[in-house]
Amino acid sequence: MPLVPMRQILDEAAKGGYGVGAFNVNNMEQIQAIMQAAHDTKSPVIIQASRGALKYSKMIYLRNLIAAATEEFPEIPLTMHLDHGNSVETCQQAIELGFTSVMIDGSLAEDGKTINDYAANVAITKKVVEMAHPLGVSVEGELGALGGIEDGHGAGLSTDEVEKHLTNPEEAESFVAETGLDALAVAIGTSHGAYKGSRKDPKTGETLPPLLAMDRIREIHKRMPNCHMVMHGSSSVPKKLVDIINQYGGRMPDAAGVALDDIQEGIRNGVRKINVDTDSRLAMTGAARKVFAETPEKFDPRDWLGPAREAAYEVYVERMNAFGQAGHAGDYEPMTLDDIKSVYCSGGCCCNG
Ligand SMILES: [Zn+2]
Repeated sequence: MPLVPMRQILDEAAKGGYGVGAFNVNNMEQIQAIMQAAHDTKSPVIIQASRGALKYSKMIYLRNLIAAATEEFPEIPLTMHLDHGNSVETCQQAIELGFTSVMIDGSLAEDGKTINDYAANVAITKKVVEMAHPLGVSVEGELGALGGIEDGHGAGLSTDEVEKHLTNPEEAESFVAETGLDALAVAIGTSHGAYKGSRKDPKTGETLPPLLAMDRIREIHKRMPNCHMVMHGSSSVPKKLVDIINQYGGRMPDAAGVALDDIQEGIRNGVRKINVDTDSRLAMTGAARKVFAETPEKFDPRDWLGPAREAAYEVYVERMNAFGQAGHAGDYEPMTLDDIKSVYCSGGCCCNG
């Protein structure tokens, strides 16, 4: 099966009332684990690559690994998505490489650090939509700014600053109308990376998940029932995975993620794409550390990459079940980029159209 436009995967998720995990990849083991999990749970799925991942994998390797994934599992609707594109050129490059969906993160300037104003965000997002839609490629934009930095991308906001940059629902409505995008990334208090919480449990001293502004999601959904929202920085950072890392020589004392309950509440209110990166990193690193600690005589990379892949697989299966995408791979006839071009031309341009 050729790669599917993300817009279709999200439209179908909205119809079915479920969310779809968008998992970041850098290497073969992650792609294999995602595809095996999607196959075993019968899930449509989004694989995404950041600019950092494309650089690490020298672009062409990642593209060909994903081509291999579609060849091995032709029954799985799969989108290849660019995460946090910073310019029209970066998005164009991804499209030329075969991506069926791109994110233009106009919430930040091209340096990926400075916060953009609303007008600049609209201007660049609109430009990417105008370039991508005639090719059938889906576009995700972002309004508001997230905390944390990942792969060098992010404004590095503190918890207090994150509060000030939450997505404004009224602005979201005009942003979607003005840009015509397919999916809207919202800032509701999540952060990229493994340290999302700053609250401590007064009794145990453990770091608690962040308090999310779920009312913003509910308000946006009320204003735009057909708008597909995206939750970034949505790894759950399970304690059991962090404990394995710490048990075998790691040092991640204050790691904390987003509660799965909050994600599911988001899904009930229009969140259709959930970005997960950190959780598979934690699983893989924990599994590798365990092998190194328990069998120091081993030196074949397959001895730790294999268990790392298996640990990532477990995370993906859990998430696919929790988000509700499991069981939906065969629900619909996948569209090609050519098919969806005509949908855009007939006026179904933005996700609120
Ligand atoms: Zn993100």
